[in-house]
Amino acid sequence: MPQGQLDCPLQYVKGIGPGLAKPLAKLGLNKLGDVLWHVPRRWEDRRTFVSIRNIRSTEPVTLRGKIRAVSTTRPKGRISITKAILEDGGSSITLVFFNQPFVEKALVSAANLNEDVIVYGSVKADNLFAPEMNSPEWEIASQDSLSMNRIVPIYPLTEGVRQRTLRRLVMQALEASESDFPQVIPEDICRQYNLMKASEAFKALHFPEEWIHRDAGRRTLAFEEFLVIQTLAYFRRQRHTTGKPGIRMPVNLHKLIAELHEIVPFELTSAQRRAIGDIAADISSGHAMNRLVQGDVGSGKTIVAVAAILMAVQNGCQAALMAPTEVLAQQHAFALQQLLEPLGIPIALATGSMTNKARQAARVHLETGQARVGVGTHALIQDNTQFAKLGMVIIDEQHRFGVLQRQALGLKGDSPHILVMTATPIPRTVTLTMYGDLDSTIIDELPPGRRPVVTHWRTHEMRDRVYSGIREMLDQGRQAYVVCSLVEESEALQAKSAIETYTHMQNVVFPEYRVGLMHGQLKPDEKKSVMAQFKAHELDILVSTTVIEVGVDVPNASVMLIEDADRFGLAQLHQLRGRVGRGQHASYCILIASPKSVEGRARMEIMTHTTDGFKIADEDLRLRGPGEFFGTRQSGAMELKVGDLAADIQVIEECKAAAAAIAEHDPDLILPQHQPLKRLIQSGPQNIELAKVG
Ligand code: ADP
Ligand code: MG
Repeated sequence: MPQGQLDCPLQYVKGIGPGLAKPLAKLGLNKLGDVLWHVPRRWEDRRTFVSIRNIRSTEPVTLRGKIRAVSTTRPKGRISITKAILEDGGSSITLVFFNQPFVEKALVSAANLNEDVIVYGSVKADNLFAPEMNSPEWEIASQDSLSMNRIVPIYPLTEGVRQRTLRRLVMQALEASESDFPQVIPEDICRQYNLMKASEAFKALHFPEEWIHRDAGRRTLAFEEFLVIQTLAYFRRQRHTTGKPGIRMPVNLHKLIAELHEIVPFELTSAQRRAIGDIAADISSGHAMNRLVQGDVGSGKTIVAVAAILMAVQNGCQAALMAPTEVLAQQHAFALQQLLEPLGIPIALATGSMTNKARQAARVHLETGQARVGVGTHALIQDNTQFAKLGMVIIDEQHRFGVLQRQALGLKGDSPHILVMTATPIPRTVTLTMYGDLDSTIIDELPPGRRPVVTHWRTHEMRDRVYSGIREMLDQGRQAYVVCSLVEESEALQAKSAIETYTHMQNVVFPEYRVGLMHGQLKPDEKKSVMAQFKAHELDILVSTTVIEVGVDVPNASVMLIEDADRFGLAQLHQLRGRVGRGQHASYCILIASPKSVEGRARMEIMTHTTDGFKIADEDLRLRGPGEFFGTRQSGAMELKVGDLAADIQVIEECKAAAAAIAEHDPDLILPQHQPLKRLIQSGPQNIELAKVG
């Protein structure tokens, strides 16, 4: 159904033309309807203005007045300072602009024409008596009803586009949307959750009459975005659980736990038992399991995986365990061999860099069913490895894999059970959106006796003191990790930086200790032997890139130094830090960083204050936004315009319930009121593989 006016390319919209259409396209605005989703950066209440004389604090204020004197000075070199006096009814304030010589002309013209201007900014703290504002935003007031005497939207701009242009465009789009706008949220859901009609919601978002209208409009539009995602997730999960029956695997939980206790030297935590119980319930139901187990680093997910593997094997099936890195795959293979081979369960390791011959052998063992468990990296799915009877697929550290790979693995074999494990605590909002198709278990308990890792943040100048602290621990027989600063350009550069750090550590800082080196460009055999040496305490210090980020387990290593820690994401720092604090020794993580930004310092502070991965994940999401948080690989799935993963937990939960209600009532989405929703699901960029729903 064409939307008429809203589909009109901006170039042809009255008053735009190709000249303006170009910069608008830079903002992602191509059709008139696009501007509706161009969300204001903030809003200004221009119904009343603060008078300069009444400014009492450094809170941002909106002023209205006339520009008087304008002058620019160039104290030295290329620095320029433009000052202008803003006057309103007898009081004045100095506006200061740094290195924006072009504003001078605009200010002078405003002064000459005696135009009223609107200014938004904060008064500098140090002098409320001769007030100054640094780099305020400003525009010429006009009797234009969209820019005055109301709550006015302030949009993200780009060069060549003015606020007024966008306001006018948005108003045009709003008028066009009044007739015949697709109502994505069905009306009964609107009523139930107290939402606005779509066209009203846009109006309230852009040009609210009161602040509460804006909030209500925002909530409605966020609801719409999350409803699309949740409905998709619902269908995906449903297709997985009821679409294909799973292999029924009866489990005697009591017996299984007793068996586990025979092979591991510790008591399971109650959270581990609960996770194992959830898995047993899933796979004995006759439906295919699709479960996410989240547990902070060190919470003991491996043993949960072992339990799942045992369940599958005892039911005559094979199991596959996928890890995101070679190092971790090898470590898992080693651990599983220790635990399971005594029970007569053979393991095959298949990684991308094994020799062809070895890989071929592993493949044959899996194909014939001689190996009951396959452990590997992507190679496990990239190859055309066949399993004799694959019944259980476990994906460790899911955040490192893309969604599609998870699916690809699921397709081998006859609808195997899928267990996804992740240590990156995922904010609950994200679990509900990106992983909305999975059931979830949280391991919210660490094994007993763990002491939290004490984290210190030190600047580069304090390095020597840090080294002597590390030396003390090495003297006591502990081991240390040194994580090199993050070089994102390439693995080769990353390796180079690791080699430099290694040489420096071995030759200059710790010549009396045995230092090892680990990075992504080492051959698999070399990696394996370095890890083994470190584990056997034949090395005291391991200099490494982030390849040790996931899974590596050496309990005697109790101190980690992270170079230029501010270059890492918080979740990644938390992962790295999880490599220490795995034994009974007091453990430390030292972050070396001299961040320049407030945000950078805030992030270091968070790391020193909490070891709660979920809190860190929430903060990380809040500070960096979803794009950064997920990295490029997964951010595409999270293109939200209005919805806010860090804040909208309630809306997301409501949407989950609403999506279930819609889908249960109308499983094929054939009712007329569900057509706009269905169209979005089918065309949405979020989840291509679900495009066939309905
Ligand atoms: P994760 O994969 O969740 O980061 P691991 O499975 O690697 O954690 O477990 C971390 C460490 O804790 C390992 O050394 C493991 O042997 C140990 N561990 C796991 N469960 C327990 C438990 N219930 N009691 C004591 N130690 C445990
Ligand atoms: Mg693990």
